[in-house]
Amino acid sequence: MGSLSREGATDGDEMPPAPDPVALKMFTSPGKPLVTVEEYFRKYIERENDRRRRQRTVIQPDTPAARRSAIMSEYFLKWGKLLYWCRRCYLLPACCCCARMRSVPPPPGLRVVVWMHEREYGRGTNTGCVLLLTLGEEYCRVLLRGVGEHDEVIEEVWNGRFDGEAATVGVLWPGGGVSPDEFKRIADVRSGGRAVLVALDATWGQARKLAGAVPSHVTKVSLTPEKAGVIGEGGEVVRSLLAPARQYKGSLADTGRICTAEAVAYALAEMYAAPDAGGACCPDVGATTRDAILENVRGKVDMVCAQSNRAAAHGTDWAEPRNQQWSREAKQVRAAGGEYSFGPGTDRPPEEIWEALVGPGGECQLEADPYAEKRMKVRETNRAEAERRKQERSKRP
Ligand SMILES: [Zn+2]
Repeated sequence: MGSLSREGATDGDEMPPAPDPVALKMFTSPGKPLVTVEEYFRKYIERENDRRRRQRTVIQPDTPAARRSAIMSEYFLKWGKLLYWCRRCYLLPACCCCARMRSVPPPPGLRVVVWMHEREYGRGTNTGCVLLLTLGEEYCRVLLRGVGEHDEVIEEVWNGRFDGEAATVGVLWPGGGVSPDEFKRIADVRSGGRAVLVALDATWGQARKLAGAVPSHVTKVSLTPEKAGVIGEGGEVVRSLLAPARQYKGSLADTGRICTAEAVAYALAEMYAAPDAGGACCPDVGATTRDAILENVRGKVDMVCAQSNRAAAHGTDWAEPRNQQWSREAKQVRAAGGEYSFGPGTDRPPEEIWEALVGPGGECQLEADPYAEKRMKVRETNRAEAERRKQERSKRP
C-alpha cells in the first residue's frame, strides 16, 4: 500500500490513498473535530472511486474530446481539491476566512466574470474566489471551463449578454489590448456604461488554453503597468501579493506577475478613476473597489500561510498559525478539565480502520485504477533517470 503523498492531489500520478492521520489534521483542529477518521476515509474512497470511474470513460479511445474534458471538469466542480473545504474561500474549514472579507459592490454598470480553469477550482491559493466574495454574487460569477451550464453562461457573455442584459464585454489580457479607461469609454458608447470584465483564472501554463478559447471578436483589455502599480517608481517589477503563498519556479519577471484578483482590482481602478480623484464631490469608486479587493487578497494570503503553518506574509490580523491555534485550544480544554485529542475514532489506529474499509472483504473496496500501468511506467522512468544522474555526479572529480 502506498503512502498518501498529498491529500487532494488528483492528477494521474497520485499514489493510491493510505491512512495518514497527518492529513486528517489538515482540515480540522483537535478542539473542533469535524469528522471521524472513519468518515474521512469513507469519503476519500468515495471520491477516489468516482475519479477512477470517470477516468475509465476518459481513456476510452472513442470518447469524444469535448466529453472527456466535461467529465473531468464536472469532477473538479463536485470535489474541488480537498475532501473538506470551504466552497467560497477554498480554504480548510479551520482556516475559512469568508467572514473576514470586506464586501464592496462594484462600480455601477460593471459585472465581473471569473472564467476558471477546472483545476484551479478549490485551490487554496486561488484569488478568483476573492473577487466573488468581495463584489457579491449579484455582480460577479465564477464559471468553470467544461461544465455544461457554465459553458452556456460564458457563451452568452461572449455574445455580449449578462443576466439577459446587453453589455460590452472585455477580457483581461496580458498586453496588446485597449487600456481599461478606453474599454470604459467603449462601454459608455455601446451599452450605456454596462460592461462585463472577464478575467481568466488559471496558472500560466493553463491560461494559454483558456485564452485560446476566447472568441476573437471579444475586446482585449490590458492594464497600463505604470498606472496599475505593477511597476514601481524605480521601474522595478512589484511582487504579486500572492507570491509568498505560491511557489513560483520561474524568473523574477514571472514572480512579479500579478494574480487574478490583483489584475481585476487594478483594471477597475483605471476604468473608474474619478477625474478629480480624492475630491470630496466625486468619490473615487475605482480606488475604493481596488483597495477592498487588495485588502481581501492580503488577508487570504495570510490565511493560506496559517493553513500551511507559516507566519503571516502581509501582517494582517486574520490568521493564527495552526500549531499556535492548537496549543491555545489545548490549554483551554485542559484547563476546563477536558481531554484534548483528535476527535472520536482515534482510539483505533487509523491503519486498522483503513484496512477494515478497503482490505480483503472490506465493505468499501477501491475500484481498479485505470492509470495504474501508466503510473508504474512513469515511476520506473523517473527512478532510472535519478539513478543515471546519481552515477553522472559520482563520475565528476
Ligand atoms: Zn470560507
